Amino acid sequence: MCGIFGIRGHPDAAALTQLGLYSLQHRGQESSGIFTVDGDGGLHLERAMGLVSEGIGGNRIELLPGALAIGHTRYSTAGSSTLDNAQPILARSRGSHLALAHNGNLVNAVELRAELEETGAIFASSMDSEVLLHRLARSHAPTPEGRLAEALAGVEGAYCLVVVIGDALVVARDPRGWRPLTIGRLGEAWVAASETCALDIVGATRVRDVEPGEIVRMDASGITSIAPFAPAALKRCVFEHIYFARPDSHVFGGSVDHTRRALGRRLAQEHPVPGADLVFAVPDSSNAAALGYAEEAGLPFEFALIRNHYIGRTFIQPTQAGRDAKVKVKYNAVHELIDGRKVVMVDDSIVRGTTTRGLVQMVRHAGAREVHMRVSSSPITGPCYYGIDTPQRGELIAANYPVAEIGRQLGVDSLGYLSLEGMLSATPGGPGGYCHACFSGDYPTPPPSNSRRARAGTGVAT
Ligand code: AMP
Repeated sequence: MCGIFGIRGHPDAAALTQLGLYSLQHRGQESSGIFTVDGDGGLHLERAMGLVSEGIGGNRIELLPGALAIGHTRYSTAGSSTLDNAQPILARSRGSHLALAHNGNLVNAVELRAELEETGAIFASSMDSEVLLHRLARSHAPTPEGRLAEALAGVEGAYCLVVVIGDALVVARDPRGWRPLTIGRLGEAWVAASETCALDIVGATRVRDVEPGEIVRMDASGITSIAPFAPAALKRCVFEHIYFARPDSHVFGGSVDHTRRALGRRLAQEHPVPGADLVFAVPDSSNAAALGYAEEAGLPFEFALIRNHYIGRTFIQPTQAGRDAKVKVKYNAVHELIDGRKVVMVDDSIVRGTTTRGLVQMVRHAGAREVHMRVSSSPITGPCYYGIDTPQRGELIAANYPVAEIGRQLGVDSLGYLSLEGMLSATPGGPGGYCHACFSGDYPTPPPSNSRRARAGTGVAT
């Protein structure tokens, strides 16, 4: 997954983009970058590995003059940590420039890339996003939005894009609307960002979301919108609400905090724990769901697990032994709250089961009398091909065992997952219009032919 940000018409474009990227850091920690165009048409690109604060933070923005900027934070996956795969990506073509930043995952990138290579294209990275830059360069459409429309015709999968073509900022969202993208106004300037929390940090007012299948050009004359693609069934990613987006954001027409509380309330209805003493969250992503559970169940909500916020990416471990150790470094239990109690532990999702297994041991060690695990999403039974970094089936605990066996392996007294129906009914706009492929197996597209390589980290830009 990634975070994207764009701004046009502001003298502090780079500084505001840097701020925006700070608030989109949760969407990607592997690398970040900012591209600007200055008043003389000069191009400036700064990209670095690591967090925004480590890479392009501080006064590095002084190297980025101009009133037009786009930025990117890139998700960390094992093996693909190279600067070549950092974004934005920039190309010069026919006397002008093209730059783009991408959030999502193209499912036919391998085929599109092979086609381009057959006709002589060379690539500087292993990212699917670079395919888009080549297709953009080949278009002769007269307008920037027309060029992007031509470039995207026949491109399948998930994309939200911020693109600089000449002096225009052009933004686009795929027809199924997998990922969020929102537009804001800051004085005379236009802003686009993955999530509204990035509009808040720069003081922009939210205008509206980019519609699925819409391409919007922002330039001196205002905004121009086209909808060049055949309408498709809406497939917004339900996992954005469950785990990925920040709770202070509005995505897909609803507050993430509100949705997570609703998920928690529904979970309490589906899987009550009679006689429990307290509810706590696996912080931070499940805080709101745990609060919703506690409210619905009429139980006290306590901060019984404390998360260390200073570990950072340096502790990302590719091995199972490393992941096991990481749980202890990342969390600790407040013994005084847990000792002798019957507790309800709420997390937003179980992927491999490593986190839960470690936490259950920790909570038992802290003296819990009974540990009841509640999950504010359904069992994850398949990988995501549309931008969330989920492992292959073999590593997904719920793809391999029934719930009762998972509960046994995790060492809990009981385990309750939210039903698919309950999960979808808690999302904004009701059950329709969401992609739930990783939970239901109902994939809107065939699996990409590079799905194996992508999981191995060959640099798909998510
Ligand atoms: P696991 O230990 O593999 O079962 O992972 C479950 C934990 O990871 C939960 O606490 C989730 O909040 C969190 N999580 C879920 N999805 C992701 C993801 N795509 N990337 C990183 N963490 C995740």
